[in-house]
Amino acid sequence: MNRTGWVYDDRFLLHDTGDAHPERPDRLRAIVREMKRRGLLDRVREISALPADLSHIEAIHASGYADRVRQACADRRGYVDSTDSAICPESYDIARLAVGGVLAACDAVMDGEVKNAFCAVRPPGHHAERDVSMGFCLFNNIAIAARYLQRRHDIGKVLILDWDVHHGNGTQHIFEEDETVFFCSIHEHPAHCYPGTGTAEERGIGPGEGTTLNLPMMPGAGDDDYRRVLEEQFLPAARAFSPDFVLVSAGFDAHVRDPLAGINLTDTAYSWLIDTVMDLADAECDGRLVLVLEGGYDLEALSCNVGRVVAALIGHA
Ligand SMILES: [Zn+2]
Repeated sequence: MNRTGWVYDDRFLLHDTGDAHPERPDRLRAIVREMKRRGLLDRVREISALPADLSHIEAIHASGYADRVRQACADRRGYVDSTDSAICPESYDIARLAVGGVLAACDAVMDGEVKNAFCAVRPPGHHAERDVSMGFCLFNNIAIAARYLQRRHDIGKVLILDWDVHHGNGTQHIFEEDETVFFCSIHEHPAHCYPGTGTAEERGIGPGEGTTLNLPMMPGAGDDDYRRVLEEQFLPAARAFSPDFVLVSAGFDAHVRDPLAGINLTDTAYSWLIDTVMDLADAECDGRLVLVLEGGYDLEALSCNVGRVVAALIGHA
């Protein structure tokens, strides 16, 4: 029986961001092609996505925000809030479908149908703030999933590791006062990279102080630097937090080939990252783990490493 869940839907291709936009449908086409090439689609359990109920989205986003996105799409505007958050008339429905896919993956893990899951969704989510879209992101898929796990499935503590090369500003801000969600982001230093937040001094606020961990990396950092920082800082903090569920904002734009940033990870780093996260989830929460696609703009680096990560999930399930 296949014990790794896979969320993908052809409708995710309908979110049309325009010809010159890096966050483009071809990203998912490349991933699916690689999954087929490696024979991985026969070894996962496909999980269907349904549009997320607005109540789950509005547990995270400000009231009226989802409707603002809906209206912008209905009005056939080209973007929401800023030009990098490009939309088309279908984008609102597709963004809700992406959230729904991630929630379905969480359900499948909690119901014991699968041990772990990878969600190949778009639009991505981790830059989306409570009331504003940012950085190609409309709804914060992973933040909505964390709160959904707590409310629907009685999960106490959720750990989110964000290994996208960009700081997960939206996710951090949503949970920075919340001690039940531990957020760790490893990313290119904000002095050198979008979105300009995520210094080591940002450690959470009030009751959430200490449950935000930012690991900014200088341009040119590579596999050994990531490994050292994650072993020395992330793993001890994660074990001390002792999560009941692990979520990963899985971007693949820290790869050396990626055109949008200056970190130099090789393919090997993604093997180490996924092995490390699976071991952590095994030790802390019976392996409960869901990965959600964020960025990654070099199609070869993206597709090859999604395949690598999914193969590791299958091998471990
Ligand atoms: Zn990114």
